[in-house]
Amino acid sequence: MAKQTVREVDWAGKRALVRVDFNVPFERGTSRISDDIRIREAIPTINHLRNGGASVVLCTHLGRPGGTRRVDLQLTPIAERLATLLSTTVDYVHDAPGDQALAKANALEAGQVLLVENIRFWEGEEANDPGFAQAIGRLADVYVNDAFGTAHRAHASTEGVAHVLPGVAGLLMEKEVTFLGGVLDDPKRPLAALLGGAKVSDKIKVLERLIDHADALYVGGGMAATFLKAKGLGIGNSLLEGNLVDFCAEVLVRCKAAGTTLTLPTDVVIAQKLEAGIPTRTVAADAVPDDWMILDIGPESADLFANQLGTMGTVVWNGPMGVFEVPPFHTGTRVVAEGLAAGSAVTIIGGGSTAEVVDALGLADEMTHVSTGGGASLEFLEGKVLPGVAALQDK
Ligand code: AMP
Repeated sequence: MAKQTVREVDWAGKRALVRVDFNVPFERGTSRISDDIRIREAIPTINHLRNGGASVVLCTHLGRPGGTRRVDLQLTPIAERLATLLSTTVDYVHDAPGDQALAKANALEAGQVLLVENIRFWEGEEANDPGFAQAIGRLADVYVNDAFGTAHRAHASTEGVAHVLPGVAGLLMEKEVTFLGGVLDDPKRPLAALLGGAKVSDKIKVLERLIDHADALYVGGGMAATFLKAKGLGIGNSLLEGNLVDFCAEVLVRCKAAGTTLTLPTDVVIAQKLEAGIPTRTVAADAVPDDWMILDIGPESADLFANQLGTMGTVVWNGPMGVFEVPPFHTGTRVVAEGLAAGSAVTIIGGGSTAEVVDALGLADEMTHVSTGGGASLEFLEGKVLPGVAALQDK
């Protein structure tokens, strides 16, 4: 990676302000964390700093409090889980820019860990206010950004503070940037992109970039319907982005010109309503009746995608193949995920819903890299400069 990382700093006697992304999900209506992967992924960085002789001040956001204090978005369950994972005590202070947090930070000894309050309780955070960045910058000597999931936002704790303190990347940030950057810069070929999810509109920029970088594109999910429409097929009541039919037609033409194959489902699973357990039919992609909608790729397509993708050099995957939350429309996604897990390709899984699916299927460990950032991984693949990365010190 072109930026300095925690490996390049002598941490003895230093205090680190580490921006982590502990924006974890909770079981509905409770304070029980339902998935702690984002906390676990930050542990190597925290321990690297502690083992090097640093004291550690951790800073995260949780939810969208919009600049006000919200008791339900305080970090107590996170501090507790973190203490368990680190096997040490974690002090949690209900302050970040003020004197209370500063006093706690100043009193830290080597190896000790302090968690400051949900940083989005202050308006200065999302406004990237320089005064606010100064205030949190007082907490440490060196800034570490390990919050890949928030690196596409220029906020005070993800960007501004890197102008106050020297900033370096954490180990998770390094891993994300190396895998997601490497996939387009220097992939093991052939490089295939598997795109799904609800909408074409979310993936316009990434599609445009992949036409030139990838050898093969595979499209499933809700977005496949607009592509099928662009090929002149009837799609019944399926999710359609009418204003993007021409764009999809243009993608088909540009792929042909670039020598990039684009594979669409040849069969689809349809129903008359989106409802669990509703009667379904599997039909050819050119035979969707008027009042039915496509809710998953069909078994023939799932096998085709799974077999072909498994033999690629590299596969980057963003978006499920069907409405995976509602059985039986999860089947296409499962078959394709299993094909990737069993195949020989380097597999890079985008964050957000794709990471959730792979995790729910118990296949995360079978993939080469599962990103912790949804929006951030997509923006990175689009070729955008992530402000949270750009602000760090060059090597
Ligand atoms: P994304 O966040 O863009 O990855 O999209 C994920 C969402 O796409 C999931 O909530 C799926 O339910 C939805 N999705 C996948 N396939 C379809 C489909 N055929 N029709 C409607 N929604 C779909």
